[in-house]
Amino acid sequence: MRLGTVLGRAAVLVGEEAFDVERAGGGRFPSDPAAVFEQWAEFAEWARTVGKGGVGEAGRYGEPIDRVLFDAPSPRPRQIYGIGLNYRDHAAEAGIEAPKAPPVFTKFVTSIDGPYRDLVLPEGTVDWEAELVVVIGKRAERVSVADAWGHVAGLSAGQDFSERIIQSAGPVPQFSLGKSFPGFGPIGPWLVTPDEFANPDDLAIECEINGESVQKSRTSNLIFSVPELVSRLSAVTPLLPGDVIFTGTPGGVGVARKPQRFLSPGDEVVTRIEGIGTISQRCVAR
Ligand code: ZN
Repeated sequence: MRLGTVLGRAAVLVGEEAFDVERAGGGRFPSDPAAVFEQWAEFAEWARTVGKGGVGEAGRYGEPIDRVLFDAPSPRPRQIYGIGLNYRDHAAEAGIEAPKAPPVFTKFVTSIDGPYRDLVLPEGTVDWEAELVVVIGKRAERVSVADAWGHVAGLSAGQDFSERIIQSAGPVPQFSLGKSFPGFGPIGPWLVTPDEFANPDDLAIECEINGESVQKSRTSNLIFSVPELVSRLSAVTPLLPGDVIFTGTPGGVGVARKPQRFLSPGDEVVTRIEGIGTISQRCVAR
């Protein structure tokens, strides 16, 4: 099942069609995407029937949705976790040994954006980081690795855009601010529930700049897998419905290139994850 946000309202995607959640369910479920996650188990069971045997007809949009009308599938998460150095080739290009525990930072919530918006470039050096994004569907507190997938609503594609000067400033660099300019956390185009994948722990992930492949890996290369991350994070802070985890980026970021390369106005960043879809941002000057 796929859940997205269309015109600010929760929508179930079936094939090329979109169904407004509130209208399709006759008011049984809310239009607010954040509220849908509070009823996740009940909602997901119903949403799998939408578009079959006349279920949800009242909410059928009936025409293709313009992609710019999509917002992030969890547009207002209460907590956002970013994981650093979670692919061996990325740790190596950063000149750091593969971590024994995942480095964790946050992206502030105003950085979250829809999947196809322009990226307004602030001053500095803005870099790309294609990432698998996890959205939580059921409160997770001290969850075991074995139980972790049961707390995940779905997977999405994201970019952890990063301004490297602010990210690395100060005697003890704190990543969060440099990763939190508006638009630095696009997610989408929707979330896909884990049951839709043959293996949700092994998905191809790729980033292209202006059609040139710059990052290419598989999520099976994650040092700390999705269940590991849910378990380790929830051991400290309860994960809440709608919360978002950016799981880390593969090798190939701009700051590690020789010569270094950063985003410029006019660049188009495309992020693709197998079984989920593609998001893209066009870079524009502030
Ligand atoms: Zn990242």
